[in-house]
Amino acid sequence: MFHEFDASYIDVRGDGVFALFNKDKVYNAIVAAITFKTFSALEFVPLIKKKVNIDIGCHIGIDQKTVLVRKIGLKRKNCRSDRQNEIWAGRPINMASKLASKSNDGELIVSDRFFKNLESDLVLKSCGCNSVEKENLWVELDVSNERIFDFNYAYMLKSYWCSEHGKDYCNEIIKLDC
Ligand SMILES: [Zn+2]
Repeated sequence: MFHEFDASYIDVRGDGVFALFNKDKVYNAIVAAITFKTFSALEFVPLIKKKVNIDIGCHIGIDQKTVLVRKIGLKRKNCRSDRQNEIWAGRPINMASKLASKSNDGELIVSDRFFKNLESDLVLKSCGCNSVEKENLWVELDVSNERIFDFNYAYMLKSYWCSEHGKDYCNEIIKLDC
């Protein structure tokens, strides 16, 4: 799913997945997150729960900052070894996972520095299916007391793609990155 939305780097560890997007792909990043949580809540989790009675769900966080990457490991002469691992410097990955663990099942939480990129009502407001007017979808969270974060506010999204308008919204939002 993250590959489909143009993630530059994807890493799966245990039951978690980490995806890195270039800074000109903020709308792809948000659309990937909403698609992932919609799939989890409406398809994946109900399917699993039909078979086994376990408590599963999905937690997602997004942060934005410059990340430095360095490949280390053995390098053969004249060719690049594939025995190299990426070393990540910088805290945004850590902050994204902390935001994810702060979320309740099905919620997406993003840092304010990521949120301020989102200017389109396509992302900020609902399609209007469940209400007369298009409502604001995001809830501001004050995280200034939590020392693990180097930002004061985060924003939380509960809603999923609308079964009627979600696909069109998804396609329109992606175009905003171009
Ligand atoms: Zn709708």
